[in-house]
Amino acid sequence: MKCSQDDTFSYGEVNRYGNLELSPSSGVLNYGQGLFEGLKAYRKGDGCGFLLFRPEENARRMQMGAKRMCMPSPSVDQFVNAVKQTVLANKRWVPPQGKGSLYLRPLLMGSGPVLGLAPAPEYMFLVYASPVGTYFKEGLAPINLIIDDEIHRATPGGTGGVKTITNYGPVLKAQVRAKSNGFTDVLFLDSTEKRYLEEASSCNLFIVKDNVISTPITRGTILAGITRKSIMEIAGDYGYKVEERLVSVEDLTAADEVFCTGTAVVVAPVGSITYQGQRYAYKTGIETVSQQLYSALTAIQMGLVKDKKSWTVEI
Ligand code: PMP
Repeated sequence: MKCSQDDTFSYGEVNRYGNLELSPSSGVLNYGQGLFEGLKAYRKGDGCGFLLFRPEENARRMQMGAKRMCMPSPSVDQFVNAVKQTVLANKRWVPPQGKGSLYLRPLLMGSGPVLGLAPAPEYMFLVYASPVGTYFKEGLAPINLIIDDEIHRATPGGTGGVKTITNYGPVLKAQVRAKSNGFTDVLFLDSTEKRYLEEASSCNLFIVKDNVISTPITRGTILAGITRKSIMEIAGDYGYKVEERLVSVEDLTAADEVFCTGTAVVVAPVGSITYQGQRYAYKTGIETVSQQLYSALTAIQMGLVKDKKSWTVEI
């Protein structure tokens, strides 16, 4: 789907996966004027039809990001229809239920040429797809995180709260370093006081202490995850007290349980967190809050229970 600054995104087509033609002076290549989204289509249990999980939320997050990045954005309907068409065109690649999902990656970018710094004169919106396996092959294996107190993901007034492509390149160094030291991922601290937890490189953070569930308040520097929002609601339904607040390193080290949420991991229990050479261990396994919430959310996403909240969209 293409548009100029004055048009809306009015037409689309389905093409085979292949290379794009982009001007070397496009806004996205020169000034990082680009956004992405990520969502999954699950095959329904009976093998007929597919389920998307809250795709309008991804559309709205892209719209919010587009405002921040001075771009027009597709309407919610255009976004959801493009995602649906992509699923239908890739039906045979959607794994059987329980074996994974079709990951969908919507991209919005300034595709027109700009030499001096300015919003691009033309934009492109596209969706591509890839089958993905389940993040955890057998059960919920705990992940191990390290807090990086040198590299920050976001700054106040920056773009940490939207899903711009330029948020991700700068965290690679911290992520590669964490992985090469045997950790699954890195946790980022706020860049002002360097004592409040924000999130991991592609998932949100939750802590559980005495059955109270807390997640860092977004304050514009944390991506407001759709899984995060859904888990907060489900946890509330289960009777937990759920708080969005500042979560300090001290809160984290004193927590009973820690878990991360995101489209890729869904809900990932955290086995340990390392900070300044000290390793803190957390409860994992059956009878944990994370296990309970994981089961509740995946049952909705895969259509195994009645979707009382109307979160899923059937294709
Ligand atoms: N934080 C970051 C930085 C992310 O990239 C993602 C993945 N989109 C998340 C959190 C989780 O968001 P969601 O639950 O919408 O996938």
